[in-house]
Amino acid sequence: MVDFDVIVVGSGIGGMAAALKVARADHSVAVLEAAPAFGGCMNPMQKGGYSFHVGVHYLGQLAEGDRFWEILDEIGLADRVEFIELDPDTIDRYVFPDFELRLCKGRERFEDQLIELVPGEERGIHKYFEVYGQVMKATESLLEVGARPSKLLGWLLRHPIMVKYARVPYQRLLDEVTSDVRLQTALAAPWFDYMLPPERASVAYGIATWDHYLSGCLLYTSDAADEVSPV
Ligand SMILES: Cc1cc2nc3c(=O)[nH]c(=O)nc-3n(C[C@H](O)[C@H](O)[C@H](O)COP(=O)(O)OP(=O)(O)OC[C@H]3O[C@@H](n4cnc5c(N)ncnc54)[C@H](O)[C@@H]3O)c2cc1C
Repeated sequence: MVDFDVIVVGSGIGGMAAALKVARADHSVAVLEAAPAFGGCMNPMQKGGYSFHVGVHYLGQLAEGDRFWEILDEIGLADRVEFIELDPDTIDRYVFPDFELRLCKGRERFEDQLIELVPGEERGIHKYFEVYGQVMKATESLLEVGARPSKLLGWLLRHPIMVKYARVPYQRLLDEVTSDVRLQTALAAPWFDYMLPPERASVAYGIATWDHYLSGCLLYTSDAADEVSPV
């Protein structure tokens, strides 16, 4: 029987990254996978003679020194995958029946775009981004502190914004900053990413998803660049 220092269950991008990190620290590691192939959501799905890349299409925070880049660097993959930056003016387009929103790189530019979209709501937009800044600061510092219970209380005391918003739905924040339906819709636009309507998503998730995008998304290339490719 073979002994391992660590067993990772599941070989998605999360399990594989964890396993690589363990291996780089010179511990033996086994990855257990229930599916016929490694990769989880990174795997293409075959249907009707086509291969569909259903999972990761674009990733944020991958410029050198950014958080995701650091993870890749740490596990020795940063220089082994080629990334191409998406058009910074239109990372995504959210098309609604009566308006369109372009997701662009840069928080300030996005804020200006929202003000242009709903000119009377400038105050609410500024308030939203004020909370956004505080929540992201708290989130970043949580990554440094780690999820150690002994440190969490001190972290909460340093970031009262999390006491206020940690357990309330994203919709509450939207209601606080505006009653304008169009602005609320815009601020909740990427909800499909977390598959929860604003009434059920957390404030931190709603904000962190924007932040992931606004820092500028990079598309991963390799053979997965075409979403649908004949097999
Ligand atoms: C349609 C779609 C589009 C997406 N687009 C993007 C995108 O553009 N950008 C982005 O950043 N993210 C995107 N995501 C999200 C991203 O794909 C996932 O967050 C990420 O791949 C999840 O990785 P994971 O390792 O946590 O889990 P998974 O990839 O789900 O891996 C879990 C693995 O664990 C295995 N497993 C589960 N239980 C067991 C068990 N008991 N024993 C053994 N093995 C087990 C499963 O078979 C699976 O292989 C998208 C997701 C979807 C579905």
